[in-house]
Amino acid sequence: MTLHLDAEELNTCVACGLCLPHCPTFRVTGEEALSPRGRIDAMRAVQLRGAPIDDDFVSFMSTCVQCRGCEPACPSGVPYGHLIEGTREHLADEHRITSRWQRMGLGALPHHRVLLAGSTALAAAQRVGLVPKRYGLGRLPLRRGPAVASTGTDAWLFTGCVMDAWLRETHRSTAAVLDALGVTYAVPGAGGGCCGALHAHAGLSDATAERALATMASMPGDAPIIVNSAGCGAALKDYGRLLGTDDARRFSGRVFDVNEWIADRLDELSEPQRRFGAVIVQDPCHLRHVQRAHLPVRTVVGWFADVVELDDDGLCCGAGGAYSALEPELAGQIRDRKMAAIDRAVEGSGATVVASANPGCSMHLQGMLGDRGITVRHPIDLLAEALR
Ligand code: SF4
Ligand code: SF4
Repeated sequence: MTLHLDAEELNTCVACGLCLPHCPTFRVTGEEALSPRGRIDAMRAVQLRGAPIDDDFVSFMSTCVQCRGCEPACPSGVPYGHLIEGTREHLADEHRITSRWQRMGLGALPHHRVLLAGSTALAAAQRVGLVPKRYGLGRLPLRRGPAVASTGTDAWLFTGCVMDAWLRETHRSTAAVLDALGVTYAVPGAGGGCCGALHAHAGLSDATAERALATMASMPGDAPIIVNSAGCGAALKDYGRLLGTDDARRFSGRVFDVNEWIADRLDELSEPQRRFGAVIVQDPCHLRHVQRAHLPVRTVVGWFADVVELDDDGLCCGAGGAYSALEPELAGQIRDRKMAAIDRAVEGSGATVVASANPGCSMHLQGMLGDRGITVRHPIDLLAEALR
């Protein structure tokens, strides 16, 4: 049995274990098999030593959050993200992960009206207590207000699927900041409603490539592409590697996380009209470990507030795309650690706001923090408010 992984990439791991403290599933379970080193060893056993793909193997791989916190910690440069994506592709091809229901749900994401209707139905179910609390999902919106409309061609404002359904106000905030900078923007054309990040997480390689091609076609030209969801930004920046074409590489080179793009232009804005006091910054894994673009968030937030750091060295919060729904027990334990870090930061600073630049993390954290009088907001929502 082979997983079709690059043997050279697999053999890069020297089993030093330096990644272990950065792995959320290892931190909450203490199990070697649920660490990056353990998972890589299991991949090697299957691909290089002929071990079977049994239920244990499937469980080790499906419990990985794909946060990639292990990558920056690894002195040997093991491309763990490629390895787990390749493994999950194989498992999905063999129908060992990603159920039929999950595939149907993912298939609906590019159909924006269907997605909005489904999200509203889920929000209504939440209001009458039909969504189990153990999923810890923050309060979804019943109403979203107007969608952003194109104003020109200086930049593309990527609106996405879940981001638009759950946090549309962040698109309006992004638009307001671009207006304040005198930058016009266009929203993606037909086919640009879903970037395929969640399909990639689920191991659906054909669907991911299909989404990548449709997304590229929806934002032609040379204008920069501004993305306010860390997970989507990471996916768009990966199209070059994923498709391996010059077109895709050029497209990925035009993609910027919104914080990255605005941090360089703050001095073109008028002075903030209000300051927020202390604001805790939570780093989404796909911004910190994958895009490695978490520092600009501090520049943006520091412009109108006192930045408060968490003391957990960017450990994942457990949201992980659909992970919190698929692995609620582990996701809950991982989130408890993040909550403890937030509690310590609140105690030391008196902050009541957490800034997070990813919809999955925001909803996952808000589900618990709401009870404590702490709100989770996108840094660009705070910036737009500071400018008003
Ligand atoms: S991606 Fe995250 S959960 Fe998976 S092995 Fe690496 S650190 Fe652990
Ligand atoms: S993945 Fe990197 S840090 Fe982790 S055990 Fe292997 S070589 Fe060491």
